[in-house]
Amino acid sequence: MTKTYTNTTQTHSPVDSAAIIATDVHKWYGNHFHVLRGVSLSVKQGEVVVIMGPSGSGKSTFIRTFNALEEFQQGSIIIDGINLSHDLKNIEEIRREVGMVFQQFNLFPHLTILQNVTLAPIWVRRWPKAKAEEVALQLLERVGILEQAKKFPGQLSGGQQQRVAIARALAMQPKIMLFDEPTSALDPEMVREVLDVMRTLASEGMTMVCVTHEVGFAREVADRVVLMSDGVLVEEGTPEVFFSNPKEERTKKFLSQIL
Ligand code: ADP
Ligand code: MG
Repeated sequence: MTKTYTNTTQTHSPVDSAAIIATDVHKWYGNHFHVLRGVSLSVKQGEVVVIMGPSGSGKSTFIRTFNALEEFQQGSIIIDGINLSHDLKNIEEIRREVGMVFQQFNLFPHLTILQNVTLAPIWVRRWPKAKAEEVALQLLERVGILEQAKKFPGQLSGGQQQRVAIARALAMQPKIMLFDEPTSALDPEMVREVLDVMRTLASEGMTMVCVTHEVGFAREVADRVVLMSDGVLVEEGTPEVFFSNPKEERTKKFLSQIL
């Protein structure tokens, strides 16, 4: 896999190559439910990190803090050098840096595929429509659905819709891409076409954090795999070690359920 950055000259501190530095992040839903209980994770530029773990363990909540979709109450999160305030003040700045793809695609049903992809560049980046469309068509070609540009989301298969969602996120030229179970809502025969797009993106050096239980993808593409359980990170390792020789009982138990 190509890396966009290697720290060989010692002119940069390790912090310079960090895309995400989350330190001791705590979050409560309401007053009582302590959903993130001191989570720390650093992701280097160009790195692909896969987060796995049981349902309800806080995976979605955690990665949603990275693009300010969720507040957190304690700890710190630095995204590409931007310190995320707890109260979502610098939300616009962050959203431009971090693209996100959701399990349920979340396309705008009343807009065409092309309009879905050009909407944010036109309104948030203030690109002229012609430029936004040119870039959008290139992206749709890249994810293999150029011929669907004039259709509406409801006319596409799930796999196609998810590829549109990826193109839509990429249209903002993000530095980091977050994927929250992007293939979980897809029929099995469509999983591969979405994973292929993600694989290509990773090989081009995109920094990616992916919540997914696709073991084949994690083994092949991830630099690190992390297990989250009950609001904490239990174990992390290279895919080889994580899948073949995990240390923690909770990891072994989880893997016995999915492998
Ligand atoms: P995962 O993605 O690992 O399945 P989530 O981050 O979605 O976990 O959820 C973690 C826990 O937080 C779950 O118990 C869930 O029910 C709860 N939760 C998620 N969103 C909210 C919310 N908006 N308000 C209250 N509790 C929530
Ligand atoms: Mg989730």
